[in-house]
Amino acid sequence: MKVTKQDKELMEKAAELIKKRRLKGRIDTASALITNKGNIYLGVDIVCKSEPCSICAEYSSVVSMLTHGEQKIKTIVAVADDGAILPPCGKCRELIFDVSGGDSDIIVNKNEKFRLRDLEKYYWRG
Ligand SMILES: [Zn+2]
Repeated sequence: MKVTKQDKELMEKAAELIKKRRLKGRIDTASALITNKGNIYLGVDIVCKSEPCSICAEYSSVVSMLTHGEQKIKTIVAVADDGAILPPCGKCRELIFDVSGGDSDIIVNKNEKFRLRDLEKYYWRG
């Protein structure tokens, strides 16, 4: 699917956030999501010396959404400090699917997004 004006605004919010919060080698990515209620939540990644303690930016934005009592992600994006759009890793896809189901749209580059269920056709549904 093509990205919409609203998707571009989401990309801009993540890009603005990583410009403000970037710590080279520690915080390199920001995520923005919009819920089905129209609220936007943001998050950044953190790279820790102990790798299992590190988390992706998408994790942060999803947890922020959950903290505010929402569970349905309409669209989510992650933007690196160089402006690149980063598709979510397997762990984040699993988190998004688990929390919000397969109807969330994932922005994978500046022009395209996919419904999560189409990216994860063989989701294990455990
Ligand atoms: Zn991830």
